[in-house]
Amino acid sequence: EAKAKKGTGYRVYDATMNLKVMQKVELEAEARVALRENQFSLALQPQVEFGSNKLIGFEALLRWYHPVRGHVSPADFIPLLESTSFMLELDYWVINKAMYLVQELNANGYPNMKVAINLSAGQFLDPGLPDFLKKQMDAHAVGPSQLCLELTENVLVSDITRATAVMLKVREMGCLLAIDDFGTGYSSLSYLKSLPADYIKIDRSFVSNITENADDRNIVHSTIGMVKNLNLQVVAEGVETIEQYDMLNEFGAELVQGYFISRPIPEAQIWSTLEEKVHAGYWQTPN
Ligand code: C2E
Ligand code: MG
Ligand code: MG
Ligand code: MG
Repeated sequence: EAKAKKGTGYRVYDATMNLKVMQKVELEAEARVALRENQFSLALQPQVEFGSNKLIGFEALLRWYHPVRGHVSPADFIPLLESTSFMLELDYWVINKAMYLVQELNANGYPNMKVAINLSAGQFLDPGLPDFLKKQMDAHAVGPSQLCLELTENVLVSDITRATAVMLKVREMGCLLAIDDFGTGYSSLSYLKSLPADYIKIDRSFVSNITENADDRNIVHSTIGMVKNLNLQVVAEGVETIEQYDMLNEFGAELVQGYFISRPIPEAQIWSTLEEKVHAGYWQTPN
């Protein structure tokens, strides 16, 4: 009986695998159409300095509005697209779009803002990335310090030697680097100390429990201390409540991002939102 069960298990496993492969191929085809038909857009989530409420800039987050499926979450489609040849194309589209937005901000009364862009592993290790960034910055008159690249620990771990070389090159150009989702990956403290980064983003999964869970609170507190000792800045992500905000501020985190400050703002609403928040004195902008 055990044998029969095992056999069935294998068939189910195979079927699931086929479905996954099918879904991926289908998804890639649909995503290619989506790019041509303007179904992708960006949402911008504000990053603000603790205490002063100075608006430092935004994280660019990809949005897909599918005519039939409605909103498709990047958390669902990016992991599937990452192993396709289309991901690189989409990633470069995001950079171009984000640079255009910064150009618009520069030109319309909001200069010196930063945009943080999430890079997939394939893009980060693409030899064409530094040149592409240079060309984009020139074309859009965006200063290098206005561009921050977000990498996850897993991107780094996949090829640490090559990753470090790219990081050094990107920083030589004057761009900033952030380690995203910090604490959820497989990096070790020993190479955090040699990473040429500017920001560490503490993952929402730790932040969301700091007021209730003493372990998470201690992890976050000591991580912030360590990161500051390494002369990196701390971005707290996924901050949703004033209690979390106050605690992270007290622990010494520099920047805050999360629903407590603002949800990601659809690009079409960016001007009206800035008008409202900045002119009301709620957010300060850099000069
Ligand atoms: P991430 O880079 O860690 O981005 C933060 C995610 O947390 C975003 O989800 C954001 O909407 C969400 N978030 C921010 N504040 C809060 C909060 O206070 N509470 C809660 N519950 N959530 C919050 P989103 O936009 O769904 O993106 C998910 C992930 O997809 C991103 O995680 C990133 O890894 C990836 N992603 C998004 N856009 C891009 C892109 O353009 N390129 C690449 N390669 N990946 C992207
Ligand atoms: Mg990110
Ligand atoms: Mg993150
Ligand atoms: Mg995250």
